[in-house]
Amino acid sequence: MLRVENLRKSFDDFKAVDGAHLAVDPGELVAVIGPNGAGKTTLFNLITGHLKPDQGRITFNGAEISRLPAHAICRKGIARSFQVANIFPRLTVFRNVQVSVLSQKHLSHTLFRPAQRMVVEETERILESVGLIDKQRSVAGVLSHGDKRTLEIAIALGNEPELLILDEPTAGMSPEETAATMGLVTRLAREQGLTILFCEHDMEVVFNVATRIMVMQQGRTIIQADPEEVRRNVTVQEAYLGGA
Ligand code: ADP
Ligand code: MG
Repeated sequence: MLRVENLRKSFDDFKAVDGAHLAVDPGELVAVIGPNGAGKTTLFNLITGHLKPDQGRITFNGAEISRLPAHAICRKGIARSFQVANIFPRLTVFRNVQVSVLSQKHLSHTLFRPAQRMVVEETERILESVGLIDKQRSVAGVLSHGDKRTLEIAIALGNEPELLILDEPTAGMSPEETAATMGLVTRLAREQGLTILFCEHDMEVVFNVATRIMVMQQGRTIIQADPEEVRRNVTVQEAYLGGA
């Protein structure tokens, strides 16, 4: 579904992504791990068109997307959440998701009530699937940190993605919120057939959930393999898992 080949991106002289490789098959839950500054967020920004690569190739469902603008990539079926939650804090939970559904259907500028009513069911279905239906009338800004991150996933689902990219979906969460969020992520993959690419620093979460793991260090892909093989890899153990 997604293929990243020899991707490179520098900021001035600094090579943030310096030879990244990645393959994601339909239905997979792929984790990208690596220390702070390894280039994970930059890689995601390159895939979603928020940054343009200097070199390399990104293909999605067989078509090259390397140099398309972000909105065009989103239309092709890739949605993402950001490392820092991106919501409309003064709108209700319902409205946050509805705006996303309307925009996917090119209806965001219509003021006709029928258009808004049309997407009510779909918005409710998404809120139901992420467990936020009871909070739909709340103003998004007052939600707990965990619920804000969940809302962000719901907004991404409004784009009807095939591939969902999550940048540290459990950052700053309590252990309970982390478990709930990763439960949701696995459920979305299993029940809705979504393909998910995420990065995450909690190794327990990664090794429990991921079907495959890609390890990045200083902008480079060291290995992409199934969790067992990554765990056994000596370079990974020395570089990242503390030799354990
Ligand atoms: P990670 O998400 O793995 O922690 P990032 O992709 O955020 O890593 O960053 C990789 C490196 O690139 C870091 O050293 C960071 O400071 C640098 N970097 C990221 N974005 C920019 C930018 N817009 N300008 C300059 N340097 C950047
Ligand atoms: Mg990051």
